[in-house]
Amino acid sequence: MDRIYLSPPHLGRHELNYLHKAVEDNWVAPAGPNITGFEADLCAFTGVGHAVALTSGTAAIHLGLLLLGVGPGDEVLCPSFTFVATANPILYCGATPVFVDSEADTWNMCSERLREAVEDRIRQGKKPKALILVHLYGMPAKLDELLAVAHEFELPVLEDAAEALGSRFRGQPLGSFGQVSVFSFNGNKILTTSGGGALLTPDANLARQARFLATQAKDPAPYYQHSQVGYNYRLSNLLAGIGRGQMELLEDRVKRRREIFTWYHENLFNLPGLAVAPAIELAGSRSNRWLTTVLLGPAPQAPPTDSPTPPPTPEALRQHLETRNIESRPLWKPLHLQPLFAQAPMYGGAVCEDLFARGLCLPSGTAMTDDDLKRVARALREEL
Ligand SMILES: *Cc1c(COP(=O)(O)O)cnc(C)c1O
Repeated sequence: MDRIYLSPPHLGRHELNYLHKAVEDNWVAPAGPNITGFEADLCAFTGVGHAVALTSGTAAIHLGLLLLGVGPGDEVLCPSFTFVATANPILYCGATPVFVDSEADTWNMCSERLREAVEDRIRQGKKPKALILVHLYGMPAKLDELLAVAHEFELPVLEDAAEALGSRFRGQPLGSFGQVSVFSFNGNKILTTSGGGALLTPDANLARQARFLATQAKDPAPYYQHSQVGYNYRLSNLLAGIGRGQMELLEDRVKRRREIFTWYHENLFNLPGLAVAPAIELAGSRSNRWLTTVLLGPAPQAPPTDSPTPPPTPEALRQHLETRNIESRPLWKPLHLQPLFAQAPMYGGAVCEDLFARGLCLPSGTAMTDDDLKRVARALREEL
């Protein structure tokens, strides 16, 4: 049986045309028409004024934090329930993350815990320098509530939309809500350039600064002169060509991810002790359903059931799927539980700890066939 991967790349037909043209024209450099074209595609899709194509989403978060003025000794608010790449760049800046728990319905940062965190940090004498918001697994965070807190305390927002390209909040594309917003085009994301990322901003000045820092911070002089630390973070024109081909497919890919989520939801809903979640979709909002995720067992506050056998743990289920050559993954392990961040402050924690203990990501790649989906469901039924 062929392996069913969690979220493999899914190329279309036009990527090769862009690559071909780049090679024919000798545009094999971290500059060129595919980069400009890819950036224009991202601006057109999101409605944001400026996009800067970069080597990774992580690089985009790093530059984004620098643009927001984050430096040594600063504190940056960040959800605990996310991939480590959201928070690593805080450390690159010499700053400290202040972690905030999730809310149970969207799994994204809880605005009440956020308010507690900000008020407590201010009470302790230090206002956080910035706020990073994440839309986990493509699910829009409750931006009205979260941005209201950011506005009240005048916190600049970096929107980590790495998993959320094609999602919308009240009709507006994610990736258009931060002073700086970030996408990833890593191999496992909804669209990919193999590795890549982008920084988006409505501010022309910030975009100019991002390009400057991403190309070794060269001062305007005929020779090489540098007054600031720079980075080599620009995306290759070849990879940007793949990105242009992928952007043509975005709406199709979102449609298929959503179909896969709905298929799992409809076909697994009667399995005991398993729930496809988060099931909600906020009014007027759309998740790209990057990964379909499930929770096992009863929620902590649920009344006891008389079910004869307890449901398997996510790890037992993952290992069983592995015997059927099906890849699945635990949910992100909360960052406040990581040895790397043992010293970082954390506000709340019970919600994301419970999600991590009970959750599993199911194969969700857009090239999956209906037979693949049935194979996954059959393998799950064998264990439940
Ligand atoms: C993938 C991801 C990133 C990092 O993107 P890369 O392109 O892999 O560097 C950042 N944040 C989140 C939430 C991600 O899922």
